[in-house]
Amino acid sequence: MSIQEVLELSDPANFIDNRWQPGAGPTRPVRNPADPADLLPGVPDSTPSEVDAAVESATRAARHWAATPAPQRGDVLRRWNELIGEHAEELAVLMTREMGKPLAESRGEIGRARLELEYAMGEATRLHGATIPSRMPEQLVYTQRGPLGVVGAITPWNFPAVAPIRKLGPALAAGCPVVLKPAEETPLTALALATLLRDAGLPDGVVNVVCGRGSVVGAHLAAHPKIAGVSFTGSTTVGHEIAASVARRLGVVQLELGGKNAAYVHSADDLGRVVEQITSAAVQTSGQRCTAISRVIVQNEIADELVRLITEKYAALTVGPGLDAAIQVGPLVNEQQRDRVADYVRKGLEQGATRTTPNRAVPNGPYFAPTVLDHVTPDMVVAREEIFGPVLTVLRVSDVDEAITVANDSDYGLASVVFSREIDVAMKFAREISTGMVHINHGTISQPHVPFGGVHGSGLGEFSIGHTSTEFFTRLKTVYLSPRIP
Ligand code: NAD
Repeated sequence: MSIQEVLELSDPANFIDNRWQPGAGPTRPVRNPADPADLLPGVPDSTPSEVDAAVESATRAARHWAATPAPQRGDVLRRWNELIGEHAEELAVLMTREMGKPLAESRGEIGRARLELEYAMGEATRLHGATIPSRMPEQLVYTQRGPLGVVGAITPWNFPAVAPIRKLGPALAAGCPVVLKPAEETPLTALALATLLRDAGLPDGVVNVVCGRGSVVGAHLAAHPKIAGVSFTGSTTVGHEIAASVARRLGVVQLELGGKNAAYVHSADDLGRVVEQITSAAVQTSGQRCTAISRVIVQNEIADELVRLITEKYAALTVGPGLDAAIQVGPLVNEQQRDRVADYVRKGLEQGATRTTPNRAVPNGPYFAPTVLDHVTPDMVVAREEIFGPVLTVLRVSDVDEAITVANDSDYGLASVVFSREIDVAMKFAREISTGMVHINHGTISQPHVPFGGVHGSGLGEFSIGHTSTEFFTRLKTVYLSPRIP
């Protein structure tokens, strides 16, 4: 019922206090990038006063939620996870309609989000502290973890379910109420998830969703004095603004930002399998993934063969609407994103790169043919900036030292990959590469219980997923307990 409830909303509304609260401002339409005729409900273009109402609601709920025994908080998450499972197909279709990714990927995203949630619910039974020997006789000294406080969660459009769940799961397990501001493009999945939380028994006010523009709703939420911390996933530029805003009141941030991820191909028994790994990590979500491989750095001796194989693979990828089961690459999220990607390819060619993939026709709309640019050099714009589309750049090098220098010559530091038969080369790369995550002999697929994050322009604060996210959403307290006054 819950997802239908969102699709049948007659008036655009935020979800505050477990209730629909009609927006005060105008309506923002929500579009299906693959089908302009597909009518999705609009959402409010909310104002700062609606953010204030949501923060007030969360603040009212904070004490009771913090006092709820943590394993009971985990029970609510368990029920939520079951409900997400029961509604998985409806959620997947909604996600594909909102942002375009192939339905198989949306289904995979729901499965992945549920695994992350499974870990998060378990964290509610693992909020461990430590006992520390005291210098005072009979005294007990221990540490315990309590909730950080009311949290602001701001999410991007490329993972409409994983991004909110990755924040809500560990925040709720830790005892933090949340005000969630979803991306303008994908608010409906977030609203549907919030109604499922209500149905799972989450008390009023513990999660509130406010829709609207980042510059208004997001900025006001980040600057709000009652928000103890902000967990943000999105672009590096906005991450800078949020970090500065939150730092003014000594709040804390968890930032998951952009990437320019490099895969170094040193050697392999079967280059075809390397190409499979690179392609799936590069074109999933049409390349609109923070961990998408976007630079292939390859040893000169095997470069021609690798480029030939990648080009063949890219030229055969099917492009079209995500609801079509035969499609491998869906549309980009909107026309602006397509034009941005096209502009990058144009700049790459102007600066001397060579396109190896054919210039083939794609359906009308925000589609972009998977493209390989060879003979890219580290100074070119396409080697430096996050393209966020199905475009792979190839940079040729002579050895692992040069590969590491080229890979590290980046403002970003999210994920990296090395393919090598030689263990010493792989170990050297893993040691010297300056990224938050490094994968040896496979693509950039992460796991749902393992810390995930970046360095430099790719992230700040505790890594998300796994035990590190619990550290972000909790505060440490040291307790000195004497049985009687000394
Ligand atoms: P974005 O930064 O434009 O928007 C992200 C969110 O921030 C949206 O909800 C937006 O409304 C909000 N926002 C925009 N301006 C704001 C402001 N001034 N104050 C507060 N909030 C504001 O990013 P996007 O285009 O939605 O997403 C793509 C980016 O996200 C890419 O750079 C991608 O690499 C990154 N991303 C990173 C990860 C990661 O885990 N590292 C995961 C997914 C996406």
